[in-house]
Amino acid sequence: MDNLTPKEIADEEMINQAFHELLNDYLATKHRKRVEIITKAFNFANQAHKGIKRRSGEPYIMHPIAVASIVCNEIGLGSTSICAALLHDVVEDTDYTVEDIENIFGPKIAQIVDGLTKISGGIFGDRASAQAENFKKLLLTMSNDIRVILIKIADRLHNMRTLGIFRREKQIRIARETIEIYAPLAHRLGIYNIKWELEDLCFHYLHPEEYADLVRQMKQKRKAREEIVDDTMRVLHEHIEESGIKATITGRPKHFYSIYKKMKRDNKDLSQIYDLYAVRVIVDTIPQCYAILGIAHSLWRPLPNRFKDYIAVPKPNMYQSLHT
Ligand code: MN
Repeated sequence: MDNLTPKEIADEEMINQAFHELLNDYLATKHRKRVEIITKAFNFANQAHKGIKRRSGEPYIMHPIAVASIVCNEIGLGSTSICAALLHDVVEDTDYTVEDIENIFGPKIAQIVDGLTKISGGIFGDRASAQAENFKKLLLTMSNDIRVILIKIADRLHNMRTLGIFRREKQIRIARETIEIYAPLAHRLGIYNIKWELEDLCFHYLHPEEYADLVRQMKQKRKAREEIVDDTMRVLHEHIEESGIKATITGRPKHFYSIYKKMKRDNKDLSQIYDLYAVRVIVDTIPQCYAILGIAHSLWRPLPNRFKDYIAVPKPNMYQSLHT
């Protein structure tokens, strides 16, 4: 390393640290410990994007590392996908070809990178939103490897998380495309945490005033509501323990966009929305699901028409659970 400026040295440190965090996260998973190929993909992508910066001024490679980290930590995919995520912009943004990737990393990773490059290529361009339905179908059929779509969603999630660096028109265009294509795809694939985050980020960029207003209102009531959730979970936990069923109980706030949609759809204000928080109970068997429902309904009177049995009648994506 000769004659690096302090800024370049700091950048290198930041890059290496981000990559090592990714490796540690990967090693903490149950996947095979294929550190060598992941390191090779990182080194390759790092030199391929060398000197290129994102609009934020960050070295470009920070983006593929962040996408790989989403793929690893938030979607739970393994080394092949992590490598493809690290390499996902190399063919599009540098002189390397899919053949180069195949020669170095083999056909599987190369195919995924090829799929990712084809989706992001200008074939759909700005008209993608207008044809969202067709585009969704196309995405699903053109990728015989579902990992292409999952990595593409991770790519979009990181772009949405860093959308603040772009001009307003671009923010709106990307957010529209995300709400029309990527959030529904994430929903269909069952990655709900990502779907919720995408929707809230889109909400923030597409309706900034309403978003800020809702966040402010929610904050004011947050403490009271958190206490309600904690109490509910505690009572539920006690009764489930008595029944002898082993269960995992979690609570989560409803995400902003779904509250907003509900307020708009039903023309209500925040005080009229009842399911701002949800408590989730996970058990091992279907009979246990109904047993827990019985416990819940004996503790709190169910609201008429608000009960849904998605076990007997699964959602089209095969989602199964009981809602009350
Ligand atoms: Mn990208």
